[in-house]
Amino acid sequence: MSSDTPIQYRIIPSQPAAHLFEVSCTVAEPDPAGQCFSLPAWIPGSYMIREFARNIVCIEAHADGRPVALEKIDKATWRCDPVSGPLTLRYEVYAWDLSVRAAHLDTTHAYFNGTSVFLRPHGLESRPCLLDIQPPAGPEYAAWRVGTALPRDGAALWGFGTYRAGDYDELVDHPVEIADFAHASFEAGGVAHDIVIYGRQRADLERLARDLKRICETHIGLFGELPPMERYVFLVMAVGVGYGGLEHRASCSLMCRRGDLPQPGVEAVTDEYRTFLGLCSHEYFHTWNVKRIKPEAFLPYDLSREAYTRQLWAFEGITSYYDDLGLARSGLVTPEAYLELLGQTATRVWRGAGRLKQSVAESSFEAWTKFYRQDESAPNNIVSYYTKGSVIALALDLTIRRATAGQRCLDDVMRTLWQRYGRVGQGVPEGEAERVAAEVAGTDLSEFFERYLYDTQDPPLAELMGDVGVEFTLRPADNAADLGGKPGKAGAEEIARRGTLGVRTGADPAGVRLLNVFDGGAAQAAGLSAGDLLVALDGLRVAKDNLEKLLWRYRPGSTLTLHAFRRDELMSFQARLQAPTPDTCVYTFRTDIDEATQARRTAWLGPAATSPAS
Ligand code: ZN
Repeated sequence: MSSDTPIQYRIIPSQPAAHLFEVSCTVAEPDPAGQCFSLPAWIPGSYMIREFARNIVCIEAHADGRPVALEKIDKATWRCDPVSGPLTLRYEVYAWDLSVRAAHLDTTHAYFNGTSVFLRPHGLESRPCLLDIQPPAGPEYAAWRVGTALPRDGAALWGFGTYRAGDYDELVDHPVEIADFAHASFEAGGVAHDIVIYGRQRADLERLARDLKRICETHIGLFGELPPMERYVFLVMAVGVGYGGLEHRASCSLMCRRGDLPQPGVEAVTDEYRTFLGLCSHEYFHTWNVKRIKPEAFLPYDLSREAYTRQLWAFEGITSYYDDLGLARSGLVTPEAYLELLGQTATRVWRGAGRLKQSVAESSFEAWTKFYRQDESAPNNIVSYYTKGSVIALALDLTIRRATAGQRCLDDVMRTLWQRYGRVGQGVPEGEAERVAAEVAGTDLSEFFERYLYDTQDPPLAELMGDVGVEFTLRPADNAADLGGKPGKAGAEEIARRGTLGVRTGADPAGVRLLNVFDGGAAQAAGLSAGDLLVALDGLRVAKDNLEKLLWRYRPGSTLTLHAFRRDELMSFQARLQAPTPDTCVYTFRTDIDEATQARRTAWLGPAATSPAS
């Protein structure tokens, strides 16, 4: 036996109705001191301890036809008694988490990430792996196929059979969808790209393939090449309600509402479809940024415990900046629609007072316990390295363009990071993205990063956006459904007369549930709390659909009586309403711009995005 004897895995969605996968793992040369196996605690791209081993329900080991004793030595690890020959573990995995992060099995499909199902044999992580994927028994599953970017080793395309991975890290970086799925394909960067869609839907697949091709080519164009891979696969789960994405080296897992997919006969890029395209664009950009240009702390991934980095703004924030920018540059959304998206992102940042308490660098470092474990206090106490990270990326892009008179931009930073780190498999040291940005800009950017990344200041977007002839304004929200990005519908005078409570609410059959109570707002000053069930306002019953209208009858400064249940106790509160705050962001194209400004705007939004007429 040589050091490249593969680890052999086999997986069968054996009991779809019971949500149980049957998995086995055979090690030819187990550790003579007793082979240990464990399941990851987290999945790369989703920075939260999830303890996947809790879903292993039965496990046994045998060698040479005889059972081998197995001891669980911590929450994720098993140790086998010493044996000399090939050792096989057999176990079942309970899979009932319909998300892009785990595993899900029922009579309609099987989906898994390797981190949820494949035990890691300690010390043998660098061995190649062979994976035999088998179908469940029964004629009702005859139409199921296998969708994955895992390289085939004998299996037919989309077929059951043997697949291979170079090592454990690769084995768990190719999610697998097994179902009677819909499929479309296209080519980009000389590589076959597939879209695999599970779930009831009636999407226009031809159009989807055409549009995704444009997005992929835009990102490939930025980096100059697609990293080497046999094929790239978009794995989509179309559901009634759900949203999420997770990046992998040659695929991504996406969950969307079925109505987010392009509908037959609809020509326009609807808001819903734009959201889906933005998600695809985001995950595809990760093919370079974070899957290959990755923090040193992720090289290699230690999936048994948290991996800390202050750099997630560069991996998630910059990717969030390029996801929508990619839509504009590929011409799939108009420049005006792009500004609307930018305005919505900025609005999410400006509405959270937590951005004044936690820096983006801290948000990254503390992602494990804060960003990924948000509670009712999140808007008050934390900032998102996605949204504020993308605002920093925009400000950085404009800053580099200004410093170099338009000769260089953030694209050059990404290309440099790709060439120096991603392409050659080198981890990016902490702070290196900042140093590369300064090098590209040809100027010291330490103050920029000190203020916006390590401190909690807002980037000066109003000033920077002037370079591309865009005005940045803040206005109060029209109503609770106002996402920002567009000029307000209500007049400024009308809005100024409306009293506000400073809460975010949700519907409840018995009244209005307070989801968040914002710092410094009227509700907080009155003693109201998130979780309270508001039932009456000055003696009148309130419901989700009439609360705003009732409130708008009161001017800022008026005091009113609110009744709310906290748990089962009815409480009364006196709230003094406040004036609305300008926390809603709008970007608009200025039309009175000179040629140089126009040229900067075109350079920024790309050749595909033509300059707007108005
Ligand atoms: Zn991301």
